[in-house]
Formats: sequence, structure tokens, C-alpha cells
Amino acid sequence: MRSASDEAFLALVSAFFEEALTPDLRQAGRQTLGVHSQIEACRIWHARLFARGWIAPAWPAAWGGTGWSARQRFLFDRQCALNDAPVLFAGGLRSLGPLLIEQGSDAQRARYLGPILSGKDLWCQGFSEPGAGSDLAAVSCRAVRHGEAYHVSGTKIWTTGAHLANRMFGIFRTADGERRQHGLTFLLIDMDSPGLTVSPILDLAGQHDFNQVFFDDVVVPVDNRVGAEHDGWSMAKRLMQLARANNTPAALVRRALRHAGDRLSRAGLDRDLDLRRRLASLAVDVDAFEQLELASLPSGRPGPHDQIVPSMLKLVGSELHQRVAELAMEIAGDAAAAAALGASYVAAELPGGEALDAGARAMARRLSLRAATIYSGASEMQRDIIARHLLAKP
Ligand SMILES: Cc1cc2nc3c(=O)[nH]c(=O)nc-3n(C[C@H](O)[C@H](O)[C@H](O)COP(=O)(O)OP(=O)(O)OC[C@H]3O[C@@H](n4cnc5c(N)ncnc54)[C@H](O)[C@@H]3O)c2cc1C
Repeated sequence: MRSASDEAFLALVSAFFEEALTPDLRQAGRQTLGVHSQIEACRIWHARLFARGWIAPAWPAAWGGTGWSARQRFLFDRQCALNDAPVLFAGGLRSLGPLLIEQGSDAQRARYLGPILSGKDLWCQGFSEPGAGSDLAAVSCRAVRHGEAYHVSGTKIWTTGAHLANRMFGIFRTADGERRQHGLTFLLIDMDSPGLTVSPILDLAGQHDFNQVFFDDVVVPVDNRVGAEHDGWSMAKRLMQLARANNTPAALVRRALRHAGDRLSRAGLDRDLDLRRRLASLAVDVDAFEQLELASLPSGRPGPHDQIVPSMLKLVGSELHQRVAELAMEIAGDAAAAAALGASYVAAELPGGEALDAGARAMARRLSLRAATIYSGASEMQRDIIARHLLAKP
């Protein structure tokens, strides 16, 4: 049920979309395969939201947020998704910015928050390494302190958008304590630092989203440390809570479901009772997930002691998104199968990057979403976190 104030708010949003969300941006939104849309569309949409003052609805108003209620933020996200707005490259907006607001120094907030809001700075995340993924405490990329700087050497892997970002946040080993979690330090690094190189990795769908990053004696000023030396683990844990809470927003799952439903009608499959029943069943699950999200994040971000909510939202959202993508691929049916046989789903092979056909796109989306239950912490790890906190003695 929508109230009169919901309607007034939605009219405001629609008026803005009418003028700012142009057909080319909507097309880029519809064609999104990975964790963000095509980067130029992201930049344009980011700049338009920033100019309107709507780029960071979940941030506290004092730091550039909109001051909207939880319901308004929810309605806004939903409108963005249902109108095919580009999915932003948003590590700064969703993860680092909120962390700096809570844990950064005044100088770091003054230096970094503005460029995150304006879109001038794009941030990538340097956590995983060849020997450290689920077991993140195994991080071995080393930062050795010399006076007022750390010298970083080693490697990070699976770094989404390292080729697009101008800055990286990450955790680095500064000491070898008895507990591996003690001895990690959270640093902010400029991507154009001498000694830093980025090497592309293509994913299963042929997309270039992530990379391996190499550090050869990269100098990082001590002022770029967030939190205390050797205490990067608590910074990383808090950042992951913030990131997981909006890793798979319900709005994006709703959009995927709507596209699957549209395709069902366009393909003349309305009389396929099995497909319709499964679509209806997913619709109920998406409704429930929306309510879960709405009820779980009244302030737009999880509380510092709330260990369960971020993992629950990440787990439910990413698995539901995959189920929707699976059904969308089945609906696309023959076209997707043909694409698989001809391997034309490999985006890199398409002339001039022109749009994939619907079946091939459904296949590519399904393949891309395989990663959703791995990145930001695999489903097994989220179940483990939830179980440990539910079973913990009060
Ligand atoms: C598309 C994509 C983008 C990514 N982007 C980034 C990024 O920008 N920055 C970054 O730092 N990292 C990024 N990652 C890396 C991601 O965080 C790791 O892949 C993830 O944490 C899993 O680590 P791993 O790949 O080393 O797998 P492993 O840790 O080797 O795990 C392999 C499997 O074993 C299971 N497993 C491991 N340990 C346990 C356990 N204790 N109990 C039960 N099961 C277990 C896992 O759940 C998983 O299914 C990205 C990954 C992907 C796929």
C-alpha cells in the first residue's frame, strides 16, 4: 500500500528520471552483466545523481546523505532498478565512505569523502590474495614501516575494477603475531603509485571486471592508515558488514524478476504452467526479501554489533538473484542453448560490443551471477558467521 507521501516522493523521483535517466543510460542499465554497468554510463549517472544531491541516500545527512526515511530509500532504489538505471561502481559509496565516516580521521574524511560523492575518486578493494580468500587472515602482502611511510610488496587478486579505480583500500601484513588477525593494517593506496601494476583477468563470461594487482615496494604514507597499526582486521570486518548489507539490493533482484516475466510474455510462454508457477513462487520470495531488507536496515547501515543482518542479507539476496537468473535462462531457452553451443555469449567476441541477444544475455547473466555467492564472502562463510552468532552464549 502506498501512502499519499509515498506518491508525492515517487512523483519527485519520476520527474528527475524523466529528465536525467536518458534512453542510453537505461540501455546500459539493462545490459549490466557484472557488479556494475558499463563504466561511462556509471560516470554519467553518478554525476547526475550527485548534482541532484541524491548520490548517497544511506549516508548520514551531515556527510552528504539525503536525510530520507528507510522507506524513501527503499522506494528510490526500487525506482532506480525498475527504470533500468545503471548499477554504479560503488565501492567508495557503499563501503569505504561509510567506514571513513565511522572510523577515519578528520583529515581522511576531509580529503576522501567529497571525491567519493562527486565520483572523482573510484575505489577498488584489495583484500583477497592467491592464498587468502575465505581465510582472509592469511593475508601476506606485506607493508613494512620505514619512518612515516609503509613500503608495500606482494600481490592482491580478484580486485574488481582495479583497472578503473584511482584508489584502493585494503589490508596488509605489518606483523606476524600469534593470532594471524593481529598484525594486519588497513591502508589507502593511490593506484598511480610507482611500483603498482594491474594485470587483467577475464571471467567465465569473457568480461574484464577483475584483476591481479602487484606491489613492488609501493610507498604509502602513514597518514593513509585507517585505524591503528596492526588493527586492520577490525576495520576490514566492519567494512565487510557495511558492504554485505547492500551487496545484492532487493531492487536488483526485483528488476531481474521483472525482465524474466517480460521475456516469458514476449516468448509466448504464458501458457507454460510450470514456468509461470516458478515465476510466481520467486515473486513471493522477492516480496519477502524486500520486506526483510526494509525491516533490517532502518538507518541504512547495520549497527557495529550486528553480525547477523549483513550476512543474512548477502546470503538471501545473492542466492535469490541466482535463482531468478537461472529461471530467466530457462525462459530464454533455445536462444541461450544456441549461444552456449556457438560460444557467442563470450562478450569479447562480439563485434563492436553490440548488444547481446536476449538468450545469450540471459546465459551471460547467469554465468556472471555464479560469482555472487563467492564475492564479498562465499555463502558457506555467511552461513558459518550466522550460525556462530546465533549459537553464541549470551
Ligand atoms: C566476481 C568476483 C569479484 C571479486 N572482487 C573482489 C575484490 O574486488 N576484492 C577482493 O579483495 N576480492 C574480490 N573477490 C574475491 C572473493 O572475495 C573471494 O573469491 C572469496 O572470498 C572466496 O575466496 P577464494 O576465491 O580464495 O576461495 P576459497 O577461500 O578457496 O574457497 C573455495 C570454496 O571453499 C569454501 N570454503 C572455504 N573455507 C571454508 C570453510 N571454513 N567452511 C566451509 N566452506 C569453506 C568456500 O565457501 C568456497 O566455496 C572477488 C571474487 C569474485 C568471484
